[in-house]
Amino acid sequence: MNGNMLAARAYPEEKAFRMEEIDHPEIGHGEVLVKVGAAGVSPGVLNHWQWGMMKLLPATLSPEIAGTVEEVGAGVIDYQTGDRVRVHANLTCRRCEFCLSDRELLCRQCSLIGFMVFGPDAMPLYERYHDGGLAEYVRVPAWLLDPLPEEIPFDVGSKIHHLAVASRSLKLADLAPGSTVVVTAATGAMGAATAKLAGLFGVARVIAVGRSRERLAGVEALAPDLVETLTTEDLPENWAEDGLLTKAIRDLVPEGPDAVIDYLPAGPGTWQAVSSMRPGGSAVIVGGNQAPPTLPALAIMVNSWSVVGNRSCTRSDALELINLLRARRLKVDDLITHRFPLHAANTAMEVVRDRTEPTWMVVAKP
Ligand SMILES: [Zn+2]
Repeated sequence: MNGNMLAARAYPEEKAFRMEEIDHPEIGHGEVLVKVGAAGVSPGVLNHWQWGMMKLLPATLSPEIAGTVEEVGAGVIDYQTGDRVRVHANLTCRRCEFCLSDRELLCRQCSLIGFMVFGPDAMPLYERYHDGGLAEYVRVPAWLLDPLPEEIPFDVGSKIHHLAVASRSLKLADLAPGSTVVVTAATGAMGAATAKLAGLFGVARVIAVGRSRERLAGVEALAPDLVETLTTEDLPENWAEDGLLTKAIRDLVPEGPDAVIDYLPAGPGTWQAVSSMRPGGSAVIVGGNQAPPTLPALAIMVNSWSVVGNRSCTRSDALELINLLRARRLKVDDLITHRFPLHAANTAMEVVRDRTEPTWMVVAKP
Protein backbone atom coordinates (compact mmCIF):
# COMPACT_ATOMS: atom_id res chain seq x y z
CA MET A 1 0.00 0.00 0.00
CA ASN A 2 1.47 3.37 -0.99
CA GLY A 3 0.65 6.89 0.10
CA ASN A 4 0.42 8.82 3.32
CA MET A 5 -1.51 8.46 6.52
CA LEU A 6 -2.19 10.62 9.56
CA ALA A 7 -0.29 9.72 12.73
CA ALA A 8 0.15 11.32 16.16
CA ARG A 9 3.92 11.29 16.53
CA ALA A 10 5.83 11.52 19.79
CA TYR A 11 9.23 13.26 19.63
CA PRO A 12 11.91 13.31 22.32
CA GLU A 13 11.53 16.02 24.97
CA GLU A 14 8.30 17.36 23.49
CA LYS A 15 5.04 17.71 25.40
CA ALA A 16 2.53 17.40 22.58
CA PHE A 17 2.09 15.06 19.63
CA ARG A 18 2.99 16.31 16.18
CA MET A 19 0.12 15.44 13.86
CA GLU A 20 2.01 14.31 10.78
CA GLU A 21 1.38 12.76 7.41
CA ILE A 22 3.78 9.82 7.21
CA ASP A 23 4.23 6.92 4.77
CA HIS A 24 2.00 3.89 5.18
CA PRO A 25 4.00 1.09 6.77
CA GLU A 26 5.09 -1.49 4.21
CA ILE A 27 4.35 -5.05 5.20
CA GLY A 28 6.48 -8.09 4.58
CA HIS A 29 6.23 -11.83 5.04
CA GLY A 30 3.98 -12.83 7.95
CA GLU A 31 2.86 -9.26 8.58
CA VAL A 32 -0.53 -7.57 8.46
CA LEU A 33 -1.53 -3.94 7.92
CA VAL A 34 -4.37 -3.11 10.31
CA LYS A 35 -6.70 -0.19 9.66
CA VAL A 36 -7.11 1.23 13.16
CA GLY A 37 -10.71 1.36 14.40
CA ALA A 38 -9.80 2.59 17.89
CA ALA A 39 -6.63 2.99 19.96
CA GLY A 40 -6.32 3.60 23.69
CA VAL A 41 -4.78 6.75 25.17
CA SER A 42 -3.55 5.89 28.65
CA PRO A 43 -1.44 7.65 31.26
CA GLY A 44 1.23 4.95 31.54
CA VAL A 45 2.19 5.29 27.89
CA LEU A 46 2.13 9.09 27.96
CA ASN A 47 4.23 9.20 31.14
CA HIS A 48 6.77 6.82 29.64
CA TRP A 49 7.25 9.27 26.77
CA GLN A 50 7.24 12.44 28.85
CA TRP A 51 9.66 10.98 31.41
CA GLY A 52 12.13 10.26 28.59
CA MET A 53 11.92 6.47 28.90
CA MET A 54 11.02 5.60 25.27
CA LYS A 55 13.72 3.64 23.51
CA LEU A 56 13.00 4.72 19.92
CA LEU A 57 11.63 8.15 19.04
CA PRO A 58 9.99 9.63 17.10
CA ALA A 59 7.30 7.00 17.34
CA THR A 60 3.58 6.41 17.14
CA LEU A 61 2.34 5.46 20.61
CA SER A 62 -0.42 3.17 21.95
CA PRO A 63 -0.31 -0.60 22.47
CA GLU A 64 -4.11 -0.78 22.62
CA ILE A 65 -5.39 -1.36 19.11
CA ALA A 66 -8.49 -2.77 17.43
CA GLY A 67 -9.51 -2.47 13.81
CA THR A 68 -9.82 -4.32 10.53
CA VAL A 69 -7.28 -6.13 8.39
CA GLU A 70 -6.40 -3.89 5.42
CA GLU A 71 -3.70 -5.99 3.77
CA VAL A 72 -1.92 -9.27 4.49
CA GLY A 73 1.67 -10.13 3.67
CA ALA A 74 2.94 -13.32 2.05
CA GLY A 75 2.57 -16.40 4.21
CA VAL A 76 -0.38 -15.08 6.26
CA ILE A 77 -3.08 -17.72 6.07
CA ASP A 78 -5.28 -17.02 9.10
CA TYR A 79 -6.51 -13.54 8.18
CA GLN A 80 -7.89 -11.74 5.18
CA THR A 81 -8.84 -8.19 4.26
CA GLY A 82 -11.85 -6.96 6.25
CA ASP A 83 -11.43 -9.26 9.26
CA ARG A 84 -12.13 -7.55 12.58
CA VAL A 85 -9.15 -7.94 14.95
CA ARG A 86 -7.51 -6.74 18.12
CA VAL A 87 -3.76 -6.52 18.43
CA HIS A 88 -2.15 -8.29 21.36
CA ALA A 89 0.77 -5.91 21.87
CA ASN A 90 3.22 -8.23 23.69
CA LEU A 91 6.16 -8.85 21.37
CA THR A 92 8.00 -11.96 22.58
CA CYS A 93 10.17 -14.86 21.41
CA ARG A 94 7.26 -17.35 21.69
CA ARG A 95 9.54 -20.26 22.65
CA CYS A 96 11.29 -19.61 25.99
CA GLU A 97 10.12 -21.15 29.28
CA PHE A 98 8.20 -17.95 30.14
CA CYS A 99 6.44 -17.73 26.78
CA LEU A 100 5.48 -21.39 27.05
CA SER A 101 4.05 -21.07 30.58
CA ASP A 102 1.75 -18.03 30.29
CA ARG A 103 4.38 -15.69 31.72
CA GLU A 104 5.37 -14.04 28.44
CA LEU A 105 6.00 -10.69 30.16
CA LEU A 106 9.18 -12.16 31.62
CA CYS A 107 10.55 -13.17 28.20
CA ARG A 108 13.97 -11.63 27.46
CA GLN A 109 12.54 -10.35 24.17
CA CYS A 110 9.40 -8.84 25.67
CA SER A 111 8.34 -5.36 24.61
CA LEU A 112 5.00 -3.75 23.86
CA ILE A 113 4.04 -2.36 20.47
CA GLY A 114 3.60 1.41 20.78
CA PHE A 115 4.95 1.43 24.31
CA MET A 116 7.85 0.07 26.30
CA VAL A 117 10.72 -2.36 26.31
CA PHE A 118 10.71 -4.96 29.11
CA GLY A 119 13.40 -7.53 28.25
CA PRO A 120 17.12 -7.01 27.56
CA ASP A 121 16.86 -8.69 24.14
CA ALA A 122 13.75 -6.83 22.88
CA MET A 123 15.51 -5.56 19.76
CA PRO A 124 15.18 -6.15 16.81
CA LEU A 125 11.48 -7.12 17.25
CA TYR A 126 10.70 -3.82 18.95
CA GLU A 127 12.61 -1.91 16.30
CA ARG A 128 10.43 -3.41 13.59
CA TYR A 129 7.10 -3.00 15.41
CA HIS A 130 7.51 -0.15 17.90
CA ASP A 131 4.97 2.09 16.15
CA GLY A 132 1.54 1.71 17.76
CA GLY A 133 -2.10 2.60 17.24
CA LEU A 134 -2.38 6.40 17.20
CA ALA A 135 -2.39 6.39 13.39
CA GLU A 136 -4.68 5.40 10.58
CA TYR A 137 -2.77 2.15 10.01
CA VAL A 138 -0.37 -0.03 11.96
CA ARG A 139 1.93 -2.87 10.89
CA VAL A 140 1.91 -5.94 13.13
CA PRO A 141 3.03 -9.57 12.90
CA ALA A 142 0.03 -11.78 12.11
CA TRP A 143 0.70 -13.96 15.18
CA LEU A 144 -0.28 -11.05 17.44
CA LEU A 145 -3.80 -10.69 16.04
CA ASP A 146 -6.86 -12.01 17.85
CA PRO A 147 -10.16 -12.21 15.97
CA LEU A 148 -12.57 -9.61 17.37
CA PRO A 149 -16.19 -10.80 17.38
CA GLU A 150 -18.92 -8.53 15.97
CA GLU A 151 -20.39 -8.20 19.47
CA ILE A 152 -17.35 -6.22 20.66
CA PRO A 153 -17.08 -2.65 19.31
CA PHE A 154 -13.63 -1.35 18.37
CA ASP A 155 -13.38 1.05 21.31
CA VAL A 156 -13.97 -1.80 23.79
CA GLY A 157 -11.73 -4.08 21.71
CA SER A 158 -8.87 -1.60 21.99
CA LYS A 159 -9.16 -1.57 25.79
CA ILE A 160 -9.02 -5.35 26.25
CA HIS A 161 -5.36 -4.99 27.15
CA HIS A 162 -6.17 -2.77 30.14
CA LEU A 163 -9.11 -4.91 31.21
CA ALA A 164 -6.82 -7.92 31.04
CA VAL A 165 -4.32 -6.29 33.40
CA ALA A 166 -7.13 -5.96 35.95
CA SER A 167 -8.16 -9.54 35.33
CA ARG A 168 -4.60 -10.85 35.80
CA SER A 169 -4.31 -8.86 39.03
CA LEU A 170 -7.49 -10.46 40.36
CA LYS A 171 -6.24 -13.90 39.34
CA LEU A 172 -2.93 -13.36 41.11
CA ALA A 173 -4.84 -12.46 44.30
CA ASP A 174 -5.95 -16.13 44.32
CA LEU A 175 -9.36 -15.38 45.82
CA ALA A 176 -11.86 -17.78 47.33
CA PRO A 177 -15.57 -17.14 46.63
CA GLY A 178 -16.97 -14.49 48.95
CA SER A 179 -13.67 -12.66 49.38
CA THR A 180 -13.15 -9.04 50.37
CA VAL A 181 -10.63 -7.07 48.28
CA VAL A 182 -9.15 -3.63 48.85
CA VAL A 183 -8.38 -1.73 45.65
CA THR A 184 -6.12 1.31 46.02
CA ALA A 185 -6.04 4.24 43.56
CA ALA A 186 -9.51 2.96 42.80
CA THR A 187 -10.64 6.01 40.86
CA GLY A 188 -8.11 5.46 38.06
CA ALA A 189 -8.85 3.38 34.97
CA MET A 190 -7.27 0.24 36.41
CA GLY A 191 -9.06 0.56 39.73
CA ALA A 192 -12.40 1.08 38.00
CA ALA A 193 -11.78 -1.91 35.72
CA THR A 194 -10.91 -4.05 38.75
CA ALA A 195 -14.14 -3.04 40.51
CA LYS A 196 -16.04 -3.90 37.33
CA LEU A 197 -14.43 -7.35 36.96
CA ALA A 198 -14.27 -8.35 40.63
CA GLY A 199 -17.69 -10.03 40.69
CA LEU A 200 -16.55 -12.50 38.01
CA PHE A 201 -13.85 -13.70 40.40
CA GLY A 202 -16.23 -14.42 43.26
CA VAL A 203 -15.44 -11.24 45.16
CA ALA A 204 -18.24 -10.28 47.56
CA ARG A 205 -16.87 -6.91 48.73
CA VAL A 206 -14.59 -4.36 47.11
CA ILE A 207 -13.24 -1.62 49.36
CA ALA A 208 -12.36 1.12 46.86
CA VAL A 209 -9.76 3.47 48.33
CA GLY A 210 -9.22 6.88 46.75
CA ARG A 211 -8.68 10.53 47.49
CA SER A 212 -11.88 12.05 46.16
CA ARG A 213 -15.32 11.23 47.51
CA GLU A 214 -16.97 12.39 44.29
CA ARG A 215 -14.80 10.18 42.06
CA LEU A 216 -15.23 7.19 44.35
CA ALA A 217 -18.99 7.59 43.98
CA GLY A 218 -18.46 7.02 40.25
CA VAL A 219 -16.61 3.76 40.95
CA GLU A 220 -19.35 2.65 43.34
CA ALA A 221 -21.92 3.23 40.61
CA LEU A 222 -20.07 0.72 38.37
CA ALA A 223 -20.88 -2.15 40.76
CA PRO A 224 -23.15 -0.84 43.52
CA ASP A 225 -23.78 -4.28 45.07
CA LEU A 226 -20.07 -4.86 45.48
CA VAL A 227 -18.25 -1.59 46.04
CA GLU A 228 -17.86 0.33 49.30
CA THR A 229 -15.70 3.42 49.36
CA LEU A 230 -12.99 4.72 51.66
CA THR A 231 -11.92 8.31 51.08
CA THR A 232 -8.49 9.37 52.31
CA GLU A 233 -9.74 13.00 52.28
CA ASP A 234 -12.01 11.97 55.16
CA LEU A 235 -9.17 10.51 57.27
CA PRO A 236 -7.38 12.61 59.91
CA GLU A 237 -4.62 14.78 58.42
CA ASN A 238 -1.92 12.62 60.01
CA TRP A 239 -3.12 9.41 58.32
CA ALA A 240 -0.03 9.11 56.15
CA GLU A 241 2.42 9.39 59.08
CA ASP A 242 0.47 7.38 61.60
CA GLY A 243 -0.76 4.40 59.59
CA LEU A 244 -4.40 5.42 59.86
CA LEU A 245 -5.38 3.93 56.50
CA THR A 246 -4.67 0.48 57.99
CA LYS A 247 -7.01 1.31 60.87
CA ALA A 248 -9.71 2.72 58.57
CA ILE A 249 -9.71 -0.48 56.49
CA ARG A 250 -9.89 -2.59 59.67
CA ASP A 251 -12.83 -0.45 60.86
CA LEU A 252 -14.69 -1.52 57.69
CA VAL A 253 -13.36 -5.10 57.61
CA PRO A 254 -12.53 -6.06 61.21
CA GLU A 255 -11.05 -9.46 60.27
CA GLY A 256 -8.95 -7.83 57.52
CA PRO A 257 -9.36 -8.08 53.75
CA ASP A 258 -8.38 -11.24 51.86
CA ALA A 259 -6.38 -9.26 49.32
CA VAL A 260 -5.11 -5.86 48.32
CA ILE A 261 -4.75 -4.91 44.67
CA ASP A 262 -2.52 -1.88 44.65
CA TYR A 263 -2.44 0.64 41.81
CA LEU A 264 -0.80 3.50 43.74
CA PRO A 265 2.15 5.06 41.91
CA ALA A 266 3.43 6.84 45.04
CA GLY A 267 2.81 7.53 48.72
CA PRO A 268 2.32 5.57 51.94
CA GLY A 269 -1.03 3.99 51.00
CA THR A 270 0.40 0.80 49.48
CA TRP A 271 2.03 -0.64 52.59
CA GLN A 272 -0.65 0.68 54.94
CA ALA A 273 -3.24 -1.22 52.88
CA VAL A 274 -1.08 -4.37 52.81
CA SER A 275 -0.73 -4.18 56.60
CA SER A 276 -4.51 -4.40 56.96
CA MET A 277 -4.75 -7.88 55.40
CA ARG A 278 -5.94 -10.91 57.29
CA PRO A 279 -3.44 -13.74 57.87
CA GLY A 280 -2.83 -15.58 54.61
CA GLY A 281 -3.85 -12.57 52.52
CA SER A 282 -2.41 -11.68 49.11
CA ALA A 283 -1.12 -8.31 47.96
CA VAL A 284 -0.83 -7.74 44.22
CA ILE A 285 1.47 -4.83 43.41
CA VAL A 286 0.63 -3.19 40.07
CA GLY A 287 1.07 0.58 40.56
CA GLY A 288 4.86 0.64 40.69
CA ASN A 289 5.05 2.64 43.91
CA GLN A 290 8.66 3.56 44.72
CA ALA A 291 8.00 4.24 48.39
CA PRO A 292 9.98 1.70 50.44
CA PRO A 293 7.99 -0.85 52.46
CA THR A 294 7.05 0.39 55.91
CA LEU A 295 6.27 -3.03 57.30
CA PRO A 296 8.90 -5.46 58.56
CA ALA A 297 9.57 -8.68 56.67
CA LEU A 298 8.64 -10.32 59.97
CA ALA A 299 5.00 -9.21 59.46
CA ILE A 300 4.93 -10.95 56.07
CA MET A 301 6.41 -14.07 57.62
CA VAL A 302 4.17 -14.19 60.71
CA ASN A 303 1.01 -13.50 58.72
CA SER A 304 2.02 -15.81 55.85
CA TRP A 305 1.13 -13.07 53.40
CA SER A 306 1.85 -13.32 49.69
CA VAL A 307 3.19 -10.22 47.98
CA VAL A 308 3.29 -10.61 44.20
CA GLY A 309 4.00 -8.18 41.40
CA ASN A 310 2.13 -7.78 38.13
CA ARG A 311 3.33 -5.57 35.32
CA SER A 312 0.77 -6.25 32.60
CA CYS A 313 -1.30 -9.08 31.12
CA THR A 314 -0.75 -12.15 28.97
CA ARG A 315 -2.44 -13.48 25.85
CA SER A 316 -4.57 -15.92 27.84
CA ASP A 317 -5.97 -13.08 29.98
CA ALA A 318 -6.98 -11.18 26.84
CA LEU A 319 -8.57 -14.22 25.19
CA GLU A 320 -10.65 -14.92 28.29
CA LEU A 321 -11.92 -11.35 28.24
CA ILE A 322 -12.90 -11.61 24.59
CA ASN A 323 -14.99 -14.65 25.51
CA LEU A 324 -16.63 -12.87 28.46
CA LEU A 325 -17.42 -9.78 26.37
CA ARG A 326 -18.80 -11.83 23.49
CA ALA A 327 -21.02 -13.81 25.86
CA ARG A 328 -22.16 -10.50 27.44
CA ARG A 329 -21.07 -11.74 30.86
CA LEU A 330 -19.19 -8.49 31.10
CA LYS A 331 -20.27 -5.05 29.91
CA VAL A 332 -17.72 -2.27 30.03
CA ASP A 333 -19.15 0.51 27.87
CA ASP A 334 -19.45 2.69 30.98
CA LEU A 335 -15.68 2.47 31.54
CA ILE A 336 -15.00 4.30 28.28
CA THR A 337 -15.52 7.90 29.29
CA HIS A 338 -14.02 9.71 26.29
CA ARG A 339 -13.79 9.16 22.54
CA PHE A 340 -11.79 11.54 20.33
CA PRO A 341 -11.02 11.65 16.64
CA LEU A 342 -7.35 10.86 15.92
CA HIS A 343 -6.64 14.45 14.85
CA ALA A 344 -7.58 15.52 18.40
CA ALA A 345 -4.98 13.22 20.00
CA ASN A 346 -3.48 16.16 21.91
CA THR A 347 -6.85 16.99 23.44
CA ALA A 348 -7.19 13.32 24.42
CA MET A 349 -3.77 13.49 26.06
CA GLU A 350 -4.74 16.61 28.03
CA VAL A 351 -7.88 14.88 29.33
CA VAL A 352 -5.86 11.83 30.42
CA ARG A 353 -3.13 13.92 32.01
CA ASP A 354 -5.25 16.56 33.78
CA ARG A 355 -8.25 14.41 34.78
CA THR A 356 -10.26 17.56 35.49
CA GLU A 357 -13.38 15.51 34.81
CA PRO A 358 -14.13 11.86 35.65
CA THR A 359 -11.80 9.96 33.32
CA TRP A 360 -11.30 6.24 33.01
CA MET A 361 -10.69 4.87 29.56
CA VAL A 362 -9.98 7.20 26.64
CA VAL A 363 -9.82 6.14 22.99
CA ALA A 364 -8.90 7.84 19.74
CA LYS A 365 -10.63 6.83 16.51
CA PRO A 366 -9.20 7.67 13.09
ZN1 LIG B 1 10.02 -15.83 25.26
